[in-house]
Amino acid sequence: MNEIYMDNNATTKVDEAVFEEMRPYFCGLYGNPSSMHFFGGQVQKKIDEARNRVAALLGASPDEIVFTACGTESDNAAVRSALEIFPDRRHVITTRVEHPAVLTLCRNLSKRGYRVTELNVDGEGRLDLDELRRAVDEDTAIVSAMWANNETGVVFPIEELGAIVKEKGKGTLFHTDAVQAVGKIPLNMATSTVDMLSLSGHKLHAPKGIGVLYLRKGVPFRPFLVGGHQEKNRRAGTENTVGIIALGKACELAARHMEDENTRVKAMRDRLQQELLARIPHARINGGAAERLPNTLSIAFEYVEGEAILMLLSEKGICASSGSACTSGSLEPSHVLRAMGVPFTCAHGSIRFSLSRFNTDQDVDAVIRELPPIIQRLREMSPFGREFLNR
Ligand code: PLP
Repeated sequence: MNEIYMDNNATTKVDEAVFEEMRPYFCGLYGNPSSMHFFGGQVQKKIDEARNRVAALLGASPDEIVFTACGTESDNAAVRSALEIFPDRRHVITTRVEHPAVLTLCRNLSKRGYRVTELNVDGEGRLDLDELRRAVDEDTAIVSAMWANNETGVVFPIEELGAIVKEKGKGTLFHTDAVQAVGKIPLNMATSTVDMLSLSGHKLHAPKGIGVLYLRKGVPFRPFLVGGHQEKNRRAGTENTVGIIALGKACELAARHMEDENTRVKAMRDRLQQELLARIPHARINGGAAERLPNTLSIAFEYVEGEAILMLLSEKGICASSGSACTSGSLEPSHVLRAMGVPFTCAHGSIRFSLSRFNTDQDVDAVIRELPPIIQRLREMSPFGREFLNR
């Protein structure tokens, strides 16, 4: 069965051109970039090129790019560094809708005596900037807020947040988890208020296991991993050379294609949204009134289980994802939808479609064709759903 892959916020296909770029560096050019000999030097040159390409996509300087193993590592490195830079400060600010890479870390910090403020969002997933304004004080070491939400695609006004942090904080550092934003919307670090930014290769058509921490020049930093001089002493460990080279190529492609591809992706997402709303009663878009990524559609169907929808879609070859996490028998709705106050009956029936430049209009047609009868069938099977259909 050919897959119709609409789970690109979970991970993306490695672009063939990215794969070709990394291929020579497995078996042929396998030198260690730190080696003195010419063989390592060739790899070092290619890593320099990759660093330039990543920097160009972000509007950053190559020296500001630190390669890591993933978005999660970059997030952890940023927050932990700030706490080491400000050993006397006990306050951290984040949002209720962050990815667990930030949220779990912050909740662990709160168990260790830190004061953690989790900013609220409204029903559309938007932050209240006044809440941030009130929260930042001279004890705040770092504010970490995501650029775009992985479940709903809702985009935060990062530069406005950064301006508040700079105005109200006393040297408070500002970090953004831009794992879902990079390659989907234009970012420019040259004119940004962001001190540190995380990104992850496998969300933009590079392989898994490579990430970046953007570290603004002059921002104080304490490394998460020590024990080697790599990355100018900011991240020890022999480089993931093939991953870095792949990410460089993926960033070059993203910079080249972002504008036209995103227009096409957004048109497909919007058509999918309109057609599903027109064909399926009692469906609503999570975050629909907020600014969103062009590729993401989180849609809630009342009185059905997201997991059941996903299984039936999967039988048709369609890959999407659920807005809720299934934990040991109890179906817990996602923390993001809960923070938005999405009613329980909707949160449970929420699914996420996330598109990429590899999707086609035929993919969208298939979902529009297959999903309405699946929802109808599931509603007929559930006692609540039947009652609801009879209303
Ligand atoms: N942050 C966000 C917003 C994400 O969506 C993800 C992955 O889903 C991560 C962080 C973690 O990135 P990685 O899988 O590279 O550790």
